[in-house]
Amino acid sequence: MLADYTLESSSVPVHTTTVLDDEEKEALRTEIRLLIERQNAVLVAHYYVDGDIQDLAEETGGCVADSLEMARFGRDHSAPTLVVAGVRFMGETAKILAPQKRVLMPTLAAECSLDIGCPPDEFEAFIADHPDRTVVVYANTSARVKALSDWVVTSSVGLRIVEHLAANDEKILWAPDQHLGGYIQAETGADMLLWRGACVVHEEFKASAMADMRRVYPEAGILVHPESPAAVVAMADCVGSTSQILKAAGDLPHETFIVATDRGLFHKMRQANPQKRFIEAPTAGDGATCRSCAHCPWMAMNELRELRDALRDGSNEILVDLETAERAILPLRRMLDFPTP
Ligand code: SF4
Repeated sequence: MLADYTLESSSVPVHTTTVLDDEEKEALRTEIRLLIERQNAVLVAHYYVDGDIQDLAEETGGCVADSLEMARFGRDHSAPTLVVAGVRFMGETAKILAPQKRVLMPTLAAECSLDIGCPPDEFEAFIADHPDRTVVVYANTSARVKALSDWVVTSSVGLRIVEHLAANDEKILWAPDQHLGGYIQAETGADMLLWRGACVVHEEFKASAMADMRRVYPEAGILVHPESPAAVVAMADCVGSTSQILKAAGDLPHETFIVATDRGLFHKMRQANPQKRFIEAPTAGDGATCRSCAHCPWMAMNELRELRDALRDGSNEILVDLETAERAILPLRRMLDFPTP
């Protein structure tokens, strides 16, 4: 039986965000704006990073998006330097898609439990044991794992791509997120063999605590990212990627939402829907041992000072070896070329 690659809580870093006063924040924001201009750079930020960094990305002509749109935006933008505020696999994807560009990150320590939980050598052996299966990997993987795959998908297109493969009678080997894989399997009926990884943030959402919360807010809509456990997904009014959750928050008629994804997304949801109320979905509650309750410790490592330093010093450059990049770009291109509705 395949091993469980879910990270132990003790392996998840504890990150303490530096508290800055308004003056320090404004000074850093001004410096970053100037550096972006001087360096002819563009800032591409994920929905889960700090709200100040999201605002800076938008103010300076960059973007705030899910990982699929970040990849597209970085590839298509003319700036010779991309600064990716997110986690490491996002920087690697940007570099693979735009090898001629310099890709910097505020920190190289920002990893992802799904990426860590899919070691390339072990994954390669798993693939070798199942040569009849089409290998579909989630974007939250290293460049080496992408290079071993037939398709890369994100949570916004994974379901449609698997549907397409299943319609062609392809049997799938899926990695690394077992919850997202299980959700797609249930929705599509595809023959999927699942790697047993998990996101440490979404796995902490608990269905029993969610049921209690629903009793307190019976009128609330429930928005859930499919990296969450199946019992939490089953309670949702909308299951989707970060951009799909953001859209549902505006489209659905509810005035209050309980949201099971990283709280970084609340910044955009509140900006877009100031009249609505967004509540964090519950984790295990009092006494929980999670180090990642509703906020990814690696995403939290993207701070204003680190962003300024990377731009000023040209530090934390992402490099991907040529052979890996040439192989990994093929499944990435397949995803980006897959028709969107
Ligand atoms: S929220 Fe989960 S999937 Fe996203 S970067 Fe953090 S650990 Fe990875």
